[in-house]
Amino acid sequence: MIAILKKDAPDQAVSHLRSWIEGKGLTTHLSRGENEIVIGLVGDTTKIDPFLLESMDIVERVQRVSEPFKKANRKFHPADTVVDCGHGVKIGGGHFQVIAGPCSVEGENLIRIARRVKAAGATMLRGGAYKPRTSPYAYQGMGERGLDLLREAGDELGMPIVTELMDPRDLPRFLDRKIDVLQIGARNAQNFPLLKEVGRTSVPVLLKRGMSGTVDELLMAAEYIMSEGNPNVILCERGIRTYETRTRNTFDLNAVPVIHHLSHLPVVTDPSHATGYTRYVGPMALAATAAGADGLEIEVHDDPSHAWSDGAQALTPDMFDDVMDRIRQIRAAITAPVD
Ligand code: PEP
Ligand code: MN
Repeated sequence: MIAILKKDAPDQAVSHLRSWIEGKGLTTHLSRGENEIVIGLVGDTTKIDPFLLESMDIVERVQRVSEPFKKANRKFHPADTVVDCGHGVKIGGGHFQVIAGPCSVEGENLIRIARRVKAAGATMLRGGAYKPRTSPYAYQGMGERGLDLLREAGDELGMPIVTELMDPRDLPRFLDRKIDVLQIGARNAQNFPLLKEVGRTSVPVLLKRGMSGTVDELLMAAEYIMSEGNPNVILCERGIRTYETRTRNTFDLNAVPVIHHLSHLPVVTDPSHATGYTRYVGPMALAATAAGADGLEIEVHDDPSHAWSDGAQALTPDMFDDVMDRIRQIRAAITAPVD
């Protein structure tokens, strides 16, 4: 971290600032240029609040030299992380996976949908048993029964199951059913106690980007999980809120190469929540695949007009078959042959 001071900063104020920084266990390096005075801060800069530093009278501006995320940072871990989701399914580092299933677990239709998505080539099954809904009067999910149905479907088909955990108090129920991947939804992307709680397990976590979250905030959320000891984090770009109203969210495909540049963690994208409309899901699934995503999460329902949630963005199993065929073509086109 570097603090650029005003050029007329009095010597006494400069040395006072240096002792304040050094009092926090860091060392300082002072350099006086013709137009400015620069203090280099060396050591554990997490001890310094850059906004507090910048608010000080003699400080013109503060610049970070290194990113605040360490465990998620590619600089300290150059190789891609491969997350083992169970049932032989790995994601990241060239392993591409498609997670598909209904928005909510609704009952017996789960296994029918699961058989179809598996036959089409999906390798992981999704479905929400605890649903984050904007309205408390909307369908809230089947709860434990939903987890049981997912587990049964996953076991029958040999597919890892992915389902959202909203409340740390429910975690034991998820662990009892050996849920393969814990999804942290967009609304909880900065629920720090929840992130820490899943960080204390070793279960893979599919961490979605917050609705108004920046890439850095997503990486810091991953850091919360990883700093508790769980390295198995899969990031998910699911669209962000912008001024555009023609789609449910704005799909930030930039995030895929940007995150690959900054982090070693796998990046999945969710074109269903990112667009909100069935007609746009296929094209954007292909675009995300072409952009180098490590996987996709897609909502599929066999009767979208009667779905209990998110019917407007569900693909039917027939549509999903078609999208999967085209995803395979894109993968073949962009994947360099392995010798
Ligand atoms: C979901 O995947 O079911 C979901 C609610 O997604 P998000 O958290 O991205 O809105
Ligand atoms: Mn949904």
